[in-house]
Amino acid sequence: MGQIRVLDQNMINMIAAGEVIERPASVVKELVENSIDAGATKITVTIEDGGRKLISITDNGCGMDTDDLAQAFEPHTTSKIKASSDLLGISTLGFRGEALASIASIAQVRALSRTKDSTGANCVEIDCGNKTGVSPCSGDYGTTVQIRDIFYKLPARRKFLKTANTEMGHITEQFTRIALANENLDLTLIRNGKELYRLSDKDDLRRRITELFPMSSSDISENLIEAESSEKGLHVHALMGKPLISRTNNRFQYVFLNGRFIRDKFISHAIKEAYRGLLEPGRFPVVFLFIRMSFEDYDVNVHPTKIEVRFYNSNLVHSQILGALREKLLGTNLEMPGKLPEMQHTQSTSRHSPPVRDSRIADAMAEFFRKHRPAQMQQQLGFRPSAPGEIHAVSREKSAQYDRKYLQIHDSFIVAQTEDGFVIIDQHALHERIMYEDLCRRIRKNKLQSQRLLIPESFEVTVSGAEALKANAELTDKLGIELVPFGPRTMAIQAFPTLLSGVQPLDFIQDLIDLLDRKDAGLDAERLLDEVLNMAACKAAIKAGQKLTESEIEQLLADRQNAESASRCPHGRPTTIKFSISDLEKQFKRT
Ligand code: ADP
Ligand code: MG
Repeated sequence: MGQIRVLDQNMINMIAAGEVIERPASVVKELVENSIDAGATKITVTIEDGGRKLISITDNGCGMDTDDLAQAFEPHTTSKIKASSDLLGISTLGFRGEALASIASIAQVRALSRTKDSTGANCVEIDCGNKTGVSPCSGDYGTTVQIRDIFYKLPARRKFLKTANTEMGHITEQFTRIALANENLDLTLIRNGKELYRLSDKDDLRRRITELFPMSSSDISENLIEAESSEKGLHVHALMGKPLISRTNNRFQYVFLNGRFIRDKFISHAIKEAYRGLLEPGRFPVVFLFIRMSFEDYDVNVHPTKIEVRFYNSNLVHSQILGALREKLLGTNLEMPGKLPEMQHTQSTSRHSPPVRDSRIADAMAEFFRKHRPAQMQQQLGFRPSAPGEIHAVSREKSAQYDRKYLQIHDSFIVAQTEDGFVIIDQHALHERIMYEDLCRRIRKNKLQSQRLLIPESFEVTVSGAEALKANAELTDKLGIELVPFGPRTMAIQAFPTLLSGVQPLDFIQDLIDLLDRKDAGLDAERLLDEVLNMAACKAAIKAGQKLTESEIEQLLADRQNAESASRCPHGRPTTIKFSISDLEKQFKRT
């Protein structure tokens, strides 16, 4: 006798549940999405014991009549699609007709529903697939679905559940995604009888973000830059975190497509590229991205929980998101605000201690300004002038020596006066940025100008090094580097870029070979060139510890004004920290 048999329907549902219902949070997601699809404007989620004991969702949506309530928990039943052509443009969150049947196969379920034109409510109960008939009961308009004892007949799955706190964390994350995507919904999350979130439909997006991320509210919503673009049927709205509030993981990247939270590698890549050079390696930006496009332009029927979609024109999506975000970021002043040291008496109560480097500089600055009070002030302390006109003349003359608007400290930082305060510039980081932009600009137009070396510099090269140089001949040519073979394992540098005149050619070539050798073949030409220019800029830039002449400082400050993105070095580290005069005045108790 054959071994193969047809599975009974309950088994099929349990298997389907394995895909869709991973944990209590998946139940919350599916049920709240159903409520949204039912047109609800107010949804309450109640959780007990991390969802193990109870998950209850109440909405004020359209409700279900007796027939629909009887039908809804059967497998493959849905009101959202009718013909296969509907699959080509799904506008609802659900459409697979699986969620309720799956949930009902793995828990005790009680659903209560009432439509607007019905005189009373109905309810139905299902215990792991065993359904009672629909019976009348009392209840308000809308639907309530209660799930108790999830996975209680599946000990293996139940054991897999984590602590109540962890499961609650997952539920909160699902709730957060839905809340961000639906500002116009009145949403409440209750845990063990206590209200965790109460979000009003009057909230705007920033307010909602503040409420959803209370730990970091002052950081997050105050540090978001807004970008918007609409082109070729694709509307992009983004709230982008300044580099200042970047994170160590990408959990704070929320991407929504027509109200659905999605994860998409093209979009993640576009976000990463948009922040290129603005963040240090290993940091991830905070981004809330809302995309609207025609339902016909992508397929949601590719993943059981619909967290992934397939764009028909993913290049367009990528380039438009990248363009909108990058343009806004580069057009925004992203200078780091400096933090002055906290006053002595408030230090112990302060929540955030300023970063060590910032405070060290701030200390040095405070000290500097204390020692170098303008002459005018010191004069006033000493004597009272007989005529106001006189003091003016004297003080101007006396203060002339302090009238310079910049100063180099420790041969590494430049302090420069600005309209409303001053900035401290990391001379290497800023010059590196300026060099990098200059190199990019030039190379975009043509190959770099080079000069012949009076005496060619020869160097030994390994087999793989020689291969790497050969494979990247186009790149070295673009850089204006001329190399010729000079014996079996030796090469010589004939010409070297003029712009890198301060760099040792041999040293540069060695690092270039290392870089080319190390890079995996997958790196596209553009990125490789970018890395090489980064390296060149770093090598050619003024170093920390290098004394600068006045005219060099002036040149640097002037170039800073013209740089596209002067606030960050190409590696994403800040070049400039700014301080406002009002902060200083507070520190010196002038106000
Ligand atoms: P899907 O959402 O994919 O259609 P579900 O199993 O989640 O499948 O739900 C089945 C059907 O039950 C839905 O198509 C909808 O008609 C009905 N339904 C589910 N939840 C609600 C609700 N909260 N209010 C009104 N109708 C609902
Ligand atoms: Mg559904």
